[in-house]
Amino acid sequence: MTDTISQDKRLVEAIANGTVIDHIAPGQAMNILRLFKFLGKGKKNRMTVGFNLRSGDLKCKDIIKIENVTFSPSETEQLAILAPNATINQISNYKVVDKYKLRLPPEIIGAFECPNSNCITHVEKDATPRFKISKSDDGQVLMRCHYCERVFEREVVLKNNGLEP
Ligand SMILES: [Zn+2]
Repeated sequence: MTDTISQDKRLVEAIANGTVIDHIAPGQAMNILRLFKFLGKGKKNRMTVGFNLRSGDLKCKDIIKIENVTFSPSETEQLAILAPNATINQISNYKVVDKYKLRLPPEIIGAFECPNSNCITHVEKDATPRFKISKSDDGQVLMRCHYCERVFEREVVLKNNGLEP
């Protein structure tokens, strides 16, 4: 056990019930906080955010602890778009009861607006925005609109939705 690991453990275990988003790449925590607002989460919940903490496997990381909140599978998918390598720790009675790494979903439905202003999703209320997620050869995350079939880089979609990539 190194100091880094025990410090890590303490950070994770510090809340009684809720969610810890750990191993967020430095700088991405701000985006996740914006997404919380987006999701209507965390408005009345106690939240702790750590920036640029030391980590064993990354040089630096951000961490967010949010009390009495759990994320639904679809919200977890939205988080994965913002912080693809982060880890979710579900805390119950000061213990980690579930832990998993965020993974990019094959498709994301209803979370982000299509950046194409001519897309039918901006006119037709029943057309819930949905994107197929893929990765280009150079690792770029691509989002393809189900309706207009345009392909956008993840950064373009996030910017268009008021989130900074
Ligand atoms: Zn579209």
